[in-house]
Amino acid sequence: MREIVVISGKGGTGKTTLTATLAYMLGASVTVADCDVDAADMHLLLQPQSTREERFYSGDEPEIDASLCTGCGCCEEVCRFDAIHVVNGVAVLNPFLCEGCGYCARVCPVEAIAMRPCYVGLLFESQLSTEATMIHARLTPGGENSGKLVARVKKDARAAAERDGCDIVLVDGSPGIGCPVISSLSGADYVALVTEPTQSALHDLGRVVELLERFHLRAGCVLNKSDIHPAVAMRVREFLADKDIPLLAEIPYDERVLEAIRLGKTPVEHAPQAFQPLFKNILDTLLNESKEDK
Ligand code: SF4
Ligand code: SF4
Repeated sequence: MREIVVISGKGGTGKTTLTATLAYMLGASVTVADCDVDAADMHLLLQPQSTREERFYSGDEPEIDASLCTGCGCCEEVCRFDAIHVVNGVAVLNPFLCEGCGYCARVCPVEAIAMRPCYVGLLFESQLSTEATMIHARLTPGGENSGKLVARVKKDARAAAERDGCDIVLVDGSPGIGCPVISSLSGADYVALVTEPTQSALHDLGRVVELLERFHLRAGCVLNKSDIHPAVAMRVREFLADKDIPLLAEIPYDERVLEAIRLGKTPVEHAPQAFQPLFKNILDTLLNESKEDK
């Protein structure tokens, strides 16, 4: 089984549109994982039909029994994160500051605090119109530990791929260089970077390539909207050549991509004549470059 993860240093480069289009073109031979759980939106293009839904819990959070609380303030005294305060004689938690360490529960003299698993989001298994399986998730607003949710999405996607006999797991990775993207990259066989010719994208590409170097991951890059700024596009090409990262494809700017997104479709569904050859070429190049023996 080959796991290909698509990432970009910054949002808005077209990562999800590219991943959704490749997923659509791979048909039933792929298992799709949307690991961009903080801002999951691949479902808007692929319109999956949910077949399983599960609540996901991660870490612990204090639950205060106000009927037992004496307002002694012991919990407030020990909390290093300023997350619990006695208000009108009863302890009150600020869940946005709480780190779930459990110290308050340990010191409470009347056992008014119990640590409970924290609900952080929903996990879905769905079916695409291509009959492929898609695993995706939705983090609750303010939900923490998205790295753990990403790890679970990937674990379920691998299990579904084995069950369905799929050779490829295609992952829409998280943006940035933090915990969720590291979780997205864990176990990857190949990484497809998506960038665009802007100063900020080039800067973020540099940071994400640094991350890949640390993990010794093989990668290629797709330069999206390649014709919007020729001078910066040239610098992107030079940077990739310097880093020995193959340029998998260049996608010129095309209004019809935005039209497709507005209609909730992949570009190849919206304008097949214009986009089918281009994306077929990208897919063939990606599959060839990501082969084990390359
Ligand atoms: S330590 Fe327990 S009893 Fe004291 S204020 Fe906190 S929750 Fe209430
Ligand atoms: S679990 Fe830790 S961080 Fe949260 S309120 Fe209790 S002591 Fe503070």
